[in-house]
Amino acid sequence: MSAAEAATSTLFDVDAIRRAFPILDQQVRGRRLAYLDNAATTQKPQVVLDALVRYYQHDNANVHRGLHTLAERATEQYESARDRLAEFVNARDRSEVIWTRGTTEAINLVAQCFAQSELKAGDAVLISELEHHSNIVPWQLACERSGATLRWIPLRDDGTLDLSDLDALLQGVRLVSVAACSNALGTMHPVREIADAAHAVGAAVLVDAAQATVHQRMDVQAWDADFVAMSGHKAYGPTGIGALIARRSWLERLQPWHGGGEMIETVTLEGSTWNEVPYKFEAGTPNIAGAIGMAAALDWFDGLDHAALLKHEQALLAATVAGLGSIHGLRFIGTAPVKAPIVSFVIDGVHPQDLATLIDQSGVAVRTGHHCAMPTMTRFGIPGTVRASMACYNSFQDIQQLIDATETAAEILS
Ligand code: PMP
Repeated sequence: MSAAEAATSTLFDVDAIRRAFPILDQQVRGRRLAYLDNAATTQKPQVVLDALVRYYQHDNANVHRGLHTLAERATEQYESARDRLAEFVNARDRSEVIWTRGTTEAINLVAQCFAQSELKAGDAVLISELEHHSNIVPWQLACERSGATLRWIPLRDDGTLDLSDLDALLQGVRLVSVAACSNALGTMHPVREIADAAHAVGAAVLVDAAQATVHQRMDVQAWDADFVAMSGHKAYGPTGIGALIARRSWLERLQPWHGGGEMIETVTLEGSTWNEVPYKFEAGTPNIAGAIGMAAALDWFDGLDHAALLKHEQALLAATVAGLGSIHGLRFIGTAPVKAPIVSFVIDGVHPQDLATLIDQSGVAVRTGHHCAMPTMTRFGIPGTVRASMACYNSFQDIQQLIDATETAAEILS
């Protein structure tokens, strides 16, 4: 163990954290599991699993509609989860939190509402060349529907955004949508700088926070974002739940996108009126258990020492880069100075798919392919990368296992 590793490990008890995640304690292909696919989804601590079971065993009922005790209990827990999330992200008010299935649905909500009433021919939407398909395709659809144009901020060779022409790119832009952190390369973007420039020309700002929640607390007010999209499963919570956090003035102004129960105030055969925000955007029975599980995940995550977590994850990142960097022919894609613990790489002459298959033989879970960021792969002229992404429970042993497995695979395949 190096001095840097020793310093972080005394602050941060990874073994204790790992014990909270029963899934990590298993063998895969006869080897100890090293789970390094956290950008795809994180594992769930036992307290989240317990919260889901407890809800279904004791309190399951539909929310808001019933006057019976179980309905009241379910409603109370579901709405408390909204309070919990509002507090966690530093929302201005609980009514700014809309439950969605995840980041994808949250972005689609905004894109479709904008296409309906905010965008017109001659307007533009600005994204970046380093976005997940979830933050590209909804805007392509919105632009097609409204006649607006889609523009993007170009990507530099190191995986940072080239903001030198931002003012020119912002001309005529009604909305800017960028990720806080890239899932493909790990680059952290200067969200506040982009938001300030966008607001200066009257454009709204959406932040895709899918990858931002897992590493540290999030502050939507510090970003000054109008909309923030996030997923529970990327931050130790269940799948199928996430949120859009939106400035209330926008929620009042936009028309609903889904119709159904819950989102109405009155319905006649001739027409309907809308419920107050945020319910106006929550048609149908929601993912009640998911919201409760997500709140349990936030509670658990909040119990960590966040300064130590940041140090630990950055030490894992440094160890990964140092270890993999010595492998002959290995090239990192994305070397930004400010990065989340996500490492993307290729080995010259080796297909990433073959590499990942061999790495899996060593019990190491990494992801391979385009990571739902095909324009980024095109920008670098590659079909895909192998990506290792870390979370709080990863240890230096996981990293060593990755380095050894990659070395062995590279020898076999080169
Ligand atoms: N944006 C980014 C940056 C992501 O990493 C992901 C998930 N990989 C998404 C959006 C989409 O999230 P979800 O699939 O949970 O809706």
